[in-house]
Amino acid sequence: MALDVLSDLNEVRNIGIMAHIDAGKTTCTERILFYTGKNYKIGETHEGASTMDFMAQEKERGITIQSAATTCFWNRQTHDTDKKFQINIIDTPGHVDFTAEVERSLRVLDGAIAVFDGKEGVEPQSETVWRQADKYGVPRICFINKMDKLGADFYYSVDTIKQKLGATPLVLQLPIGAEDTFTGMVDLIRMKAYVWKDVTTDLGAHYETVDIPDELKERAEEYHATLMDQVAEANDEFTEKYLEAGELTEEELRQGIRELTISRRAYPVLCGSAFKDKGIQPLLDAVVDYLPSPEDVPAIAGFKPGDESVEIDRKPTTDDPFAALVFKISTHPFYGKLVFVRVYSGSIQPGDSVLDSTKGKKERVGKIFQMHADKENPVDAAEAGNIYTLVGLKNVSTGDTLCDDKAPISLESMTFPDPVIEVA
Ligand code: GDP
Repeated sequence: MALDVLSDLNEVRNIGIMAHIDAGKTTCTERILFYTGKNYKIGETHEGASTMDFMAQEKERGITIQSAATTCFWNRQTHDTDKKFQINIIDTPGHVDFTAEVERSLRVLDGAIAVFDGKEGVEPQSETVWRQADKYGVPRICFINKMDKLGADFYYSVDTIKQKLGATPLVLQLPIGAEDTFTGMVDLIRMKAYVWKDVTTDLGAHYETVDIPDELKERAEEYHATLMDQVAEANDEFTEKYLEAGELTEEELRQGIRELTISRRAYPVLCGSAFKDKGIQPLLDAVVDYLPSPEDVPAIAGFKPGDESVEIDRKPTTDDPFAALVFKISTHPFYGKLVFVRVYSGSIQPGDSVLDSTKGKKERVGKIFQMHADKENPVDAAEAGNIYTLVGLKNVSTGDTLCDDKAPISLESMTFPDPVIEVA
C-alpha cells in the first residue's frame, strides 16, 4: 500500500544540511532522522521496520545514511496546535569546488541548515559553501553545534557569521553554560529557558521549560530587544506596530523572522550539541517555522529546448504541465537505476510516459518512491514541489529535464554559468 504524501505544499520543506567537514553534519542528520523517525513510523501498513530500526541497524554496522534524498516527518507542536510537516533532506556533497553535482543539489533545495563548529565558528570551507548557497539564493538557518566542546564560544561564532560571511545573524537562542556545563538555552522569542533533564533516553532528549537564569537575564533582555528591532524592520506594518505598541507579539516575531529568512536579509542562529543530543527539536521547529515551502520560492525559470532565448516559467502547481529535474542517479540492488528528481510543476503517475528533453527521447516511468532513510516507499503520484525517486527510466542522466511531451521545457542550461568566486 502506498503511503500518504502531504498534499499541502505549505507543509513541505526541501532542505539541505551544509557544513565544513567535521562540523557535525552527519551527527546532526542522524539526530534529525532519530526524532523524525519517532514521529512517523514507517512500516505500520508497509514492510515492517521503522526508520529507527533502520538507524539502529545501520549504526551497528557503522554505516551512515547514504541516500541522495530522505523524506521524514516532523510534528510541530505549539501550545494550541500539532501540525505535521514533511521534510525532504537532500544530500549536498561537501565538495569545495564548483562541480555540477554541488550546483545541482543546491538548485533543487529551497532552504538549508548551515552547521558550524562552536569553537571554530565560520571556517574557510563553510565560507565556500555559503557563497555557493548565495549564488542559488538559498535561505539558511545557522546551527552553532558542539557547544559542549572545550573552547566552544557561541558569541565568537556568531561574530564570525558577521565578519567572515558578511551576513546578518538573527540570534534566536542564547546558550546556558558552555563546554561541559552547557545545560540548556534561552529562547529569545518566548523569553523562556529550556533545560535538559534527561539526555538521550530512548525517546531522545527531554527538556523542561524554566525561567531564564538570573545571570543571563540582562543579556537575554538585550538580545530580545535587538531581535525585536530587527524584526520591526521586516516590513512597514511591523515597523508601525512596533512604534505604536513598543513591542511585537510572539506570532509577529515568528512571522517577521520567516520573512527576513526567506528574503535572505537575515539568518536565524540557533545552538546545540548534536553529539550530546541537545537542541535538535528546536532546530526542527525552526526548519518548519522559518525556511520556505516550495510555494514561497519564485517560479522556476526554464527555456524552450534547443532555444535558450525563449524563457518559460513553471509554477509549483499540478495545474502547470509536468517538469522535473534529475539531480542524482544511483543503483538499487533490486530496482536497478534510481532516478532522484525534484518535480517543479505538474504531476505524473506510475506508468506515465515523460519526455527527457535533454536527450529528446520519451521514456516510461515505472514505480515512484519517496525514500525514508534509504527505505523506498511507493507513492501514487509525483507532484509539483516535492522530491521523488523514479524507477524504470533507462537512458536518463543527472541534469536531464523530464517533462510533458506536449509542453517541452529545459530546466538546465547546457553550459553552467561561470562560478562566482567572491573574495571575503
Ligand atoms: P561531518 O564531517 O560534518 O559530517 O561531522 P560528523 O558528524 O562526522 O562529526 C565530526 C566529529 O565531531 C565526530 O567525531 C563527532 O562525534 C563529533 N561531533 C559531532 N557533533 C558534536 C557535538 O555536538 N559535540 C562534540 N563534542 N563533538 C561532536
